[in-house]
Amino acid sequence: MSTGLEHTSWPFFEGRHGELAHAVDAWAAATLPTLPHEDMALGARAADEACRARVKALGQAGWLRHAVGGTAWGGVGEAIDTRSICLLRETLARHDGLADFAFAMQGLGSGAISLAGDDAQKARWLPAVARGEALAAFALSEPDAGSDVAAMQCAARVEGDTVVLNGEKTWISNGGIADFYVVFARTGEAAGSRGISAFVVEAGTPGFEVAERIAVIAPHPLARLRFSDCRIPLSHRIGGAGEGFKVAMRTLDVFRTSVAAAALGFGRRALQEGLHRAKTRPMFGGVLADYQLTQAKLADMATTLDGAALLTYRAAWLRDQGRNVTKEAAMAKMAATEGAQQVIDAAVQLWGGRGVVSDEPVERLYREIRALRIYEGATEVQKLIIARELLKT
Ligand SMILES: Cc1cc2nc3c(=O)[nH]c(=O)nc-3n(C[C@H](O)[C@H](O)[C@H](O)COP(=O)(O)OP(=O)(O)OC[C@H]3O[C@@H](n4cnc5c(N)ncnc54)[C@H](O)[C@@H]3O)c2cc1C
Repeated sequence: MSTGLEHTSWPFFEGRHGELAHAVDAWAAATLPTLPHEDMALGARAADEACRARVKALGQAGWLRHAVGGTAWGGVGEAIDTRSICLLRETLARHDGLADFAFAMQGLGSGAISLAGDDAQKARWLPAVARGEALAAFALSEPDAGSDVAAMQCAARVEGDTVVLNGEKTWISNGGIADFYVVFARTGEAAGSRGISAFVVEAGTPGFEVAERIAVIAPHPLARLRFSDCRIPLSHRIGGAGEGFKVAMRTLDVFRTSVAAAALGFGRRALQEGLHRAKTRPMFGGVLADYQLTQAKLADMATTLDGAALLTYRAAWLRDQGRNVTKEAAMAKMAATEGAQQVIDAAVQLWGGRGVVSDEPVERLYREIRALRIYEGATEVQKLIIARELLKT
């Protein structure tokens, strides 16, 4: 039986990466089943509690130290190591989708501070994020600005040493339970993407409210946020005026490859479940795996996953060498999320009727994978990025 860790011997990795993946795998197997679980029937509050429990456990075990940059602020290294966060996400996703989500949001939500924050902002938030004591969120999307991020309307007006925020953000992961939100808003230094700045807004700030909790097919804390004359200190601006779009893109650049890794984790779990079912399901006097149509399905699943893994860890390795990975990260995200969707669908098919029963592992995976083809750049957007890079040459 595959352990799901064989690829850690590939040349993209150093010894420390294999050790990390094996350690988190053992920890996840022992710890995650003991934590409270989200449940479709129990609704949003159960997902909140399950998410908080995972952040706390991930922090106590030290895994969140990989999600922040800077040893002075609790990070494992001075910069976030892409291969490490990819292996962590892949392994967590293979065990438990919400644990992957909790890890990813600590990184994505604090990523702008790791990359572009000043020392006071780093000291205030990063150690607490790394310990799992502060929950982070990344608030970029708006009702009318998703794929077209530069169309955002949420506005920030500077008045002396304060900033006044007005507008909305939506689809914000950890919305409703986060302790702070990195919010991108229009400050008007220039038209389009050059007139946006990034700010930290703490939960509980007057004028900030969670306007709506959003229920989704795989329960995660998710919300629409509203800012009504919400005043924050100017010292909460991350990076310079008008640099917010650049900060957002740099943050997504770090984490986009890790979305591919999470998809891989879901896909690998689906292959494990599919193999198990094929080998054990009695059928026509034998088992499901005896039939060549089943074998072809399993071969396609494994090949799709290894192809996606090669693209994912190529992008992660290149990024850790300090190279630009715009095209490679887009290829990885597209191939891994689309491929994992196919692999998971095939696993559901192998499980037959049981594959669509609520809370069977493959049914959960079927719901978990879907949003990954949409967020942090839908597949269509990744295609445009790849083509743009190709046409530059
Ligand atoms: C579960 C979940 C969690 C999320 N978490 C966060 C978060 O934490 N923070 C945050 O800021 N945002 C978050 N998002 C928002 C996410 O990034 C957006 O949903 C995504 O960018 C797409 O925007 P949209 O939903 O407005 O879709 P639209 O922009 O309306 O796009 C709809 C569809 O149009 C297609 N499309 C896009 N561009 C093109 C094109 N050029 N040509 C042809 N077709 C195209 C794609 O298929 C796309 O799915 C999350 C979303 C989900 C579903």
